[in-house]
Amino acid sequence: MPVLVVKFGGTSVSDVTRIRAAANIIANCQKEGFSVVVVVSAMGGDTDRLVDLAQSISCHPARREFDMLLASGEQVSVALLAIALNERGVKSKSYLADQIQFVTDAQHTRANIVRVEVDKLFQSVAVGEVPVIAGFQGVSTDGEITTIGRGGSDTTAVVIAAAMDAEECRIYTDVDGVYTADPRIVEHATRMERISFEEMLEMAALGAKVLQTQSVEYSRRHSVRLRVLSSFKNGGGTVIDTEENERMTNLPVSAVTYDKNDAKITVRHVPDVPGVAYQLLGPIADSGISVDMIVQNVSVDERTDLTFTVPRENFDVSLKILNRSVPKLCKEYPPDDGKLIEVIGDDTIAKVTVVGLGMRSNVGVASKMFETLAQYGINIQMISTSEIKISVVIHVDFCEVAVRVLHTAFGLDAPKD
Ligand code: ASP
Ligand code: MG
Repeated sequence: MPVLVVKFGGTSVSDVTRIRAAANIIANCQKEGFSVVVVVSAMGGDTDRLVDLAQSISCHPARREFDMLLASGEQVSVALLAIALNERGVKSKSYLADQIQFVTDAQHTRANIVRVEVDKLFQSVAVGEVPVIAGFQGVSTDGEITTIGRGGSDTTAVVIAAAMDAEECRIYTDVDGVYTADPRIVEHATRMERISFEEMLEMAALGAKVLQTQSVEYSRRHSVRLRVLSSFKNGGGTVIDTEENERMTNLPVSAVTYDKNDAKITVRHVPDVPGVAYQLLGPIADSGISVDMIVQNVSVDERTDLTFTVPRENFDVSLKILNRSVPKLCKEYPPDDGKLIEVIGDDTIAKVTVVGLGMRSNVGVASKMFETLAQYGINIQMISTSEIKISVVIHVDFCEVAVRVLHTAFGLDAPKD
């Protein structure tokens, strides 16, 4: 029988009623003729509660103990779901990471997956059982309990699906698919039947929080077809795979996304000589902060401006680091015309992005985007592009408007009835 991996997110198992509903969904998947393997996240809100508990005792809990604590959330949900399945007549057993050997390295709280053994899972489905596996956790090569990063149970599911050569990996969650824009902002956003891995990756990285980015990357690399669907509402959800379809290539833009979690930093009047960008950005990168959207102006009088974005949570630290590097630079390159090197920060920005495989074959997407924003008086502060996306940084107050007008301009609004 073909294998189907199904994953339930925290909201889908947040109470007893929902756990029973998840058990029903699993029973129906079995009726479709699949050998079903289940991956579960902790009951909704549990992981956050555990994080708060640890942090109320210590600002820097030992990462080993943090993993020991956080991994306990999934132990509860797998057992309850297996109990619910057995109760409704579906044979089931729950498993923790070390019981099936979901092996990672020892980097606590963000461990990398090393290998997963699926023999036990094949044996389990062969006798008609449904194995229910704890997502998010791993066991290190030396037997320690690890976790693979918040939201990691999506990745657990995909890794198991790849190892078992599953037909599909279904991610049951609280939304019924991937939309052309956030439906809370755009009333006429529509659910996409299909989306490519490339588009989903751009969207996942840009704030469409449906799937953990790492899980999409892994699926693409191992050709695991993903399907995102609701555990509360019937429907086919959104399939994420490699096949291009007509929509993807006819429409230049498939979706509009936004991200309000960045801040912008400009360093003015930096000397335009080799090594300066490194002197400024190196120490930021060294402290583990990911710098994005870097723009450098053409230099005037051998001085230039350097602008980039950082996650908003790292804004203050980044400014501090820069204010340490700048005096050194000032000494090395004293300004001869009073143009001091200065650092300007702005955390009132949003990044708005249009994504689409169709951009490869359609011209004029950027100009249409800029024209639309201009019509609504929205000033563009920064621009960055890749083969299948165009991102702009604008003032955060215009974020929602920008998403709406771009959604309309690129013909994504649902037909009005
Ligand atoms: N329970 C974990 C978390 O909240 C893993 C997951 O939900 O995927 O991050
Ligand atoms: Mg999740």
